[in-house]
Amino acid sequence: MRFILTKELGRLSRWLRVLGFDTVYFKEENYSKLLLLALREERIIITRNKTLAERVTTKAVYLKEENLPEQLKKVIKRLNLKIEEDKMFSRCVICNKSLEKVGKEKVRERVPEYIYKTQQGFRECPQCKRVYWPGSHWQNIREALNKTGLNEVCS
Ligand SMILES: [Zn+2]
Repeated sequence: MRFILTKELGRLSRWLRVLGFDTVYFKEENYSKLLLLALREERIIITRNKTLAERVTTKAVYLKEENLPEQLKKVIKRLNLKIEEDKMFSRCVICNKSLEKVGKEKVRERVPEYIYKTQQGFRECPQCKRVYWPGSHWQNIREALNKTGLNEVCS
């Protein structure tokens, strides 16, 4: 399942990527272009723009919720998304590119010493070269998911 989100939903875009979903964050107001992209790439539109959601013929989810946990909760429930731990952190939250595994030695200069010593399983974005590792982010994600009451969905 792939998504395209309208400009009000930048944070939600990043979160969907963290969870491993292919997510385009469409910042322009050109809605015919957005629709074209949605159709061509078979993406579900997620938006806070009610008129847009009602107008499009393709699948769309309208979010009236303003805060992130509520938005995330609604999307997961509405689309019956399955959150799989092994898919989390498989995608760059900034570029939406699939991350590639990278050897520990190669990230030595790019991560804090402590992280280098204590973490395993580094991944790198092929586009922006950001380095990701699961250890540090896990706790934050867990806490955020707990707040949404979605922890049971994820375990
Ligand atoms: Zn990136």
